[in-house]
Amino acid sequence: MDYVGRPLLGCLFVALLLLQWRFPLRRQHFSVLHRLVRNFVLSIPGFAIARLAMLPIPIAIAFWARERHIGLLNWLPLPTWAVVIATFLLMDYAYWWWHWAMHMLPLFWRFHNVHHTDLDLDVSTAARFHFGEMILSIGFLSLAVLLFGIGPIMLSCSARPIQIGARSFAGGTSCIGR
Ligand SMILES: [Zn+2]
Repeated sequence: MDYVGRPLLGCLFVALLLLQWRFPLRRQHFSVLHRLVRNFVLSIPGFAIARLAMLPIPIAIAFWARERHIGLLNWLPLPTWAVVIATFLLMDYAYWWWHWAMHMLPLFWRFHNVHHTDLDLDVSTAARFHFGEMILSIGFLSLAVLLFGIGPIMLSCSARPIQIGARSFAGGTSCIGR
């Protein structure tokens, strides 16, 4: 995944950034360089947590749950293709509720508003998250893995692309406005 996913996401990031810079939907408050540096610096602690804990801990829980047959997908005798689809749908649904909670619970919103207070929405906004939100999401991801019985390989293949893809899409909404 790291040898394919990272270059792919890197290319997607650059392509979206170029499109948003060339065809901005709104008048920008800051230069592209200013935004990139600011959002990159803001995202460093979050990326460190994602790398060191946000996937390793839920993956360890996924191994533990599989060995003990805990969680929905560990109880159902489904073919591989159905597990792939079910994992995508269940995790996407879980992320939707997680995002809802981020907006509705005052404590969570205190962390999540860092993402939404970016005056110039672009693809770099996709990386602009408070590290507190990343720490909180470890608990959410672990709980979802436990409840749904998400397998370790499926989790490592699906968690990052879904999250980053969703965030890139959110950042991409300021592009192609004409
Ligand atoms: Zn939000």
